[in-house]
Amino acid sequence: MEISCVHVWKEISNYIDGDLDPALRERMSAHFKSCAHCSAILDGTRNVVGLVADGKTFDLPRGFSERLKQRLAQNLPKH
Ligand SMILES: [Zn+2]
Repeated sequence: MEISCVHVWKEISNYIDGDLDPALRERMSAHFKSCAHCSAILDGTRNVVGLVADGKTFDLPRGFSERLKQRLAQNLPKH
């Protein structure tokens, strides 16, 4: 049976953790091979998980989020 993209997204962190039953894992692997969208999400999620595991995401310079917010505000379309 074909697994849906939505189902894959729900289980993707368990897939990366290796915390799935083998049958589901098998179906997801097959899905990643045939679905470019989900395999891109898998790569992106793996990168995020890697950063968090290294503790780098918690080590942002002071004021970083404020500057980021300002930059985003500047880029918003003006009304
Ligand atoms: Zn998919």
